[in-house]
Order: sequence, then C-alpha cells, then structure tokens
Amino acid sequence: MKAQQRIAVIGAGLGGAAAALLLQQAGYKVRVYEQAPEFSRLGAGIHLGPNLMKVLRKVGLEKALCDIGCYPDAWYSREWNTGAEMARIPLADYAEKRYGAPYLTVHRGDLHALMVQGIQAGTLEYGKNLTNVEDTGSEVVLSFADGSTATADIVIGADGVNSKVREVLLGAELPIYTGFIAHRAVANADTLKYAQDLCCKWWSDDRHMMVYYLDRAKKEIYYVTGVPQQTWDLNHRWLPSSKDEMREAFAGWHPAVQALIDNTVEVTKWSLLERDPLPLWSRGRLVMLGDACHPMKPHMAQGAAMAIEDAAMMLRCFDAVGLDDYHTAFALYEANRTERASKVQKVSHDNTWLMSNEDPEWCFGYDVFTVPLVDIPAK
Ligand code: FAD
Repeated sequence: MKAQQRIAVIGAGLGGAAAALLLQQAGYKVRVYEQAPEFSRLGAGIHLGPNLMKVLRKVGLEKALCDIGCYPDAWYSREWNTGAEMARIPLADYAEKRYGAPYLTVHRGDLHALMVQGIQAGTLEYGKNLTNVEDTGSEVVLSFADGSTATADIVIGADGVNSKVREVLLGAELPIYTGFIAHRAVANADTLKYAQDLCCKWWSDDRHMMVYYLDRAKKEIYYVTGVPQQTWDLNHRWLPSSKDEMREAFAGWHPAVQALIDNTVEVTKWSLLERDPLPLWSRGRLVMLGDACHPMKPHMAQGAAMAIEDAAMMLRCFDAVGLDDYHTAFALYEANRTERASKVQKVSHDNTWLMSNEDPEWCFGYDVFTVPLVDIPAK
C-alpha cells in the first residue's frame, strides 16, 4: 500500500532531506525536488540536541555524527564583559543519560551531506525550482522554472521560509523581519589567541554571540550572533559582513570575543525572519514542514530540529493512519506538532533559552517516536 502513493518532497534542506530519508527507509515512494543546482559546505554550524539526535539515530547517522562532532561538556552562558558564568547546563554523559541521546555540535554542511547521501540514488533532482502547484483532486501537478512538470499523489512543502507551497496554500506574503541579524563565521581554531569554552553563549542586554567548535578534533570554531538592526532589504537572505563591522557591534566585549573577531577570515550576516503561526499546515494533497510553516529566530538552536522532528512525526502519522486517508494523516500530524513548534518559536523569539540555569528537559528529553499522540481536535 505504502509504495502506491507517490510522494513529492519540495526542498532538500535539513527538513526535506529528513522527510525523504525517513519515508524511503519506511518503504514509501518518494522523489525530492531541490531548486539549488548543487549543495556546498556553507560556513555555518549546528547544534544537534538529544531530541534531534533521536531522529538521526533512527535514520542510521548517529555513529557517523558522533565520530565527527564536538561533544561539549556543557552549554555555558557568560556575561558579555566580565565573562562571569550566568549558567552552566551540563551536557556530555549527563545529557546522554538524562535525555536519552548525545548533544553534539557539528558543521551544518557535514550534517547535510550525510543526510543527502542517504537519499535513494536517482530520487533527488537538483535545479528544480518549483513555480506552480495544481491539486487536480486526483493528483498534484508540479511545474518547475526549467519548464518541466512532474506529478505526485502527496506533496510535502519543505521549501523553507519563502515556501512556494505555503504561498499556494495561503497566498503571497513576505515573512516578518524581526529587527535582528545574525553574523556567521567559521574559522580555523588553531590560530585563535584566547582559550574558549567548547560551547558558550555571550550575552548583553540587546545582543549575543554563540560560540562552539564544529568537530571532535577542535580544528574549526564557529560563531553566530544576534544583533539589532532596524531595517533589512528582504530581497537579500544574507550579505557579506566584515571584521570592522564585528568590532563595532561587539566593542568593549570580553577578550575571548575580541580574539574570535580577530581570528575571523570571512563573516556573513543573515536576516532573522519569522511568521505568525499559520492557520493551516495542509490542504488537499499538500502539507508543509519546517521553516515553510514555522520559521523562527535561531536563538534556541532548534529550528532545524523542529523541521526534522516534523518529518518524523509525519512518518508516524502516515504509518498510523495510512496514506489513502491523507486528510486524517495530515490533521493528526498538525495536531501533534503545532503546540511544540509554537512554543519553540516563542522561546526563540524571546531569546531567553539557557540564559540562566533552567531545566531543558521539555525540549531535549522529547522523543518524537514515543511521545503519546494527541487526538485531532473536534471542529
Ligand atoms: P531550509 O533549510 O531553508 O531548506 C529549504 C530548502 O528548500 C532549500 O534547500 C531550498 O533551496 C529549497 N527550496 C526553496 N524554495 C524552493 C522551490 N521553489 N523549489 C525547490 N526547492 C526550493 N537551527 C538549528 O536547529 N540549530 C542551529 O544551530 C541553527 N542555527 C541557525 C543560524 C542562523 C543564522 C539561521 C538563519 C538559522 C539557524 N537555524 C538553526 C535554523 C535552521 O537553519 C532552519 O530552521 C532550518 O534550516 C529549516 O529547515 P527547512 O528544511 O525547513 O528549510
């Protein structure tokens, strides 16, 4: 039965790649359409919290990631100028025992490459920029910018913050610029002139810098900021930044932060975008996941984790209901994801996560495969 329904995933970012991997491994027939001509190893890191690692374990990537990733002893929060400890959230062995999986930090490109390599050969098409979607009732016709078309029975929109699938479902609407940007830089850790924690967030009242290593050997170090900036031209997702701009934004900050800026070779800046919670995540044969339906500030380091958890919950609901009744499967998926995704969106927006010694169990302890399912709300 599973193999009869043709599933099209739009977008092979972390959420789309996870959906393809999970569904293909479970026996579903999936093709993936990605607009990019290829993927490169972009300069960015990513936290793999235990909640996310449980999904990566399911698709067989835990060992490969543990072999390459940095295994921080703790998440430290520190005062911007004195370096005084505001919080120390134990990770390492403690996280494994308490939350059921390790906490790692890795290069985002390395994670993505591992995921994309796991997609069945010949089922991922690059250079396919979705331009139109027509749900005929009996199937969906997908049109791409290169003039080609494809058909599917189910379409999963994993096409990010400017999702075409979202536009088809809800109309054209730009995301909300939050008034904050994020600088991102990956650099050689050997040339750093000041010792760093393995994973640390530096906080002042209106901005922050999150710093962590990307590999087990501690050869690469990454920082990502949150800095207020009144306006942003939404035609650009990111722009180049510079050491001088970083020095100005973080003037007077602790010597450990100055050393990171001094050691910077290349730095980019990204607009931080959100959307208010959407009134629906699916209609007819179309359903969305990840940033397509709940883009958020990255300040909990959980945006990709939410996209990947969505993919796992989608699989669980497809298995529970059967895809012949995709209306019910989609409704069950949405019922079981909106509350958690909205909570993570809100905490990320407020930028309070792990600023003090709070208990992160609700986030890290979550297991998308065993959490009791809630019923579809009555209309
Ligand atoms: P995306 O990763 O945006 O993927 C969408 C894919 O769809 C892309 O490959 C795109 O090319 C493709 N696509 C788009 N339109 C089309 C189309 N029309 N046709 C075909 N393909 C299309 N999250 C974390 O969990 N941890 C972190 O540490 C973290 N740090 C972050 C730092 C910054 C500065 C930012 C901006 C975000 C960060 N995030 C982090 C959030 C995370 O990047 C996103 O939440 C996550 O990438 C969402 O995954 P996605 O698959 O939904 O969307």
